[in-house]
Amino acid sequence: MMNELQVPGGAAGWRQHHAAQQPRYPDPQALADAAADLRTRPPLVFAGEVDSLREKMVLASQGRAFVLMGGDCAESFHDNTAVNIRLKLQTILQMAAVLTYGASTPVVKIGRMAGQYAKPRSSDTETRDGVTLPSYRGDSVNDHAFTAEARIPDPQRMVDAYLRAGTTLNLIRSFTMGGYADLREVHSWNRGFTANPAYKRFESFAEEIDRAMRFMEAAGVDFEALRQVDFYAAHEALLLEYEDAMTREDSRSGRLYDTSAHFLWVGERTRGADDAHVALLAGVHNPVGVKIGPTTTRDELLSLIDHLNPDGDPGRLSLITRMGADRIRDVLPPLVEIVRADGRPVTWITDPMHGNTITSENGYKTRRFDTIMDEVRGFFEVHRALGTVPAGIHVELTGDDVTEVLGGGEHIDEAGLARRYETLVDPRLNHQQSLEMAFEVAEMLRG
Ligand code: PEP
Ligand code: MN
Repeated sequence: MMNELQVPGGAAGWRQHHAAQQPRYPDPQALADAAADLRTRPPLVFAGEVDSLREKMVLASQGRAFVLMGGDCAESFHDNTAVNIRLKLQTILQMAAVLTYGASTPVVKIGRMAGQYAKPRSSDTETRDGVTLPSYRGDSVNDHAFTAEARIPDPQRMVDAYLRAGTTLNLIRSFTMGGYADLREVHSWNRGFTANPAYKRFESFAEEIDRAMRFMEAAGVDFEALRQVDFYAAHEALLLEYEDAMTREDSRSGRLYDTSAHFLWVGERTRGADDAHVALLAGVHNPVGVKIGPTTTRDELLSLIDHLNPDGDPGRLSLITRMGADRIRDVLPPLVEIVRADGRPVTWITDPMHGNTITSENGYKTRRFDTIMDEVRGFFEVHRALGTVPAGIHVELTGDDVTEVLGGGEHIDEAGLARRYETLVDPRLNHQQSLEMAFEVAEMLRG
């Protein structure tokens, strides 16, 4: 049980550190009021659940489980509907079913959901047709609409984000505890996938899974036990006031947990080892991640481990690499060697999205499916060559039929991007592309 002890400033005093990417709220009192309000609210997740994820991350780091982390680049309040949540959850569960078979190990299912509402931006301002306004920083900060009014950071949005995260988690819990995620059902969802001729090459694989399911059923496997699945929530711990207000002491252990999600990560733009974001996560017991890009140095890497996992506890720290398909085979091996020589365990996860963003000729921020898959392949190659464990994937996806990523079995081309380009920030794999990725990764996992 969580008690209601207040923890001003968080455990590690992040307020004394440089904080990048924070909104400039016009009214400090309104910010203080919103934060005080959040401190009185119930936690969104519980310490026991967070600990169980941490144990699963240990297994993943050792190759005895595989992590699947996926969801929107930026969740939006507008899209916080039952249908959207269900389709996203369904997509992740379908991918997990395919990966479980490929890896012959459990898949740790984590949604970039129920709190992925704050975004780092490369510029503080955005200019359109000669008009310059503050950048959109995610629905927990300001509104996407391009008007002066909409772009003013409003701290009340943190409370709104909390409430929406709560309703999202409530629906996820209902679906995953109530039998909707029954393994047999998830598998039957996958049958439709191979109906598309583009996915013919996965047909025999899908049939194998089918046969395995029938075998288990015939052998009297207790499917009742498989009716419930563990599903966890994660987001970038970007908005410091929000994460701080959600940090609570667990009365069983006296430890601090960020109760806004089970897993939190620090982004590539805010991962300075002496900066506020790392200080905040250093003080909580959740499993945490850090995005690392191709410019990461040896010193940065080792100081991140010093701050976030000084004692080398397995399952605590994930390194989420986002190198770019053209660089991963060169830049990842030395970093893996440094960590291996250090000896403190990490969980290596690939984010094949953020190093591969391009602008199409018709002006869309997009990515190519083939390039994304090439980075995943590079990730597996590097770890297999070095004898380390490729422990998971972190992807931007949606359960919808959007057209934001080029290619895949539906051959989305540049003109096709215009058809359903709906993301607020980065391009997401659509439902079919997500499944295609799962089949391909399952093949890689089988070696
Ligand atoms: C993201 O995950 O949406 C993101 C901004 O990633 P990164 O920090 O790796 O650029
Ligand atoms: Mn993104």
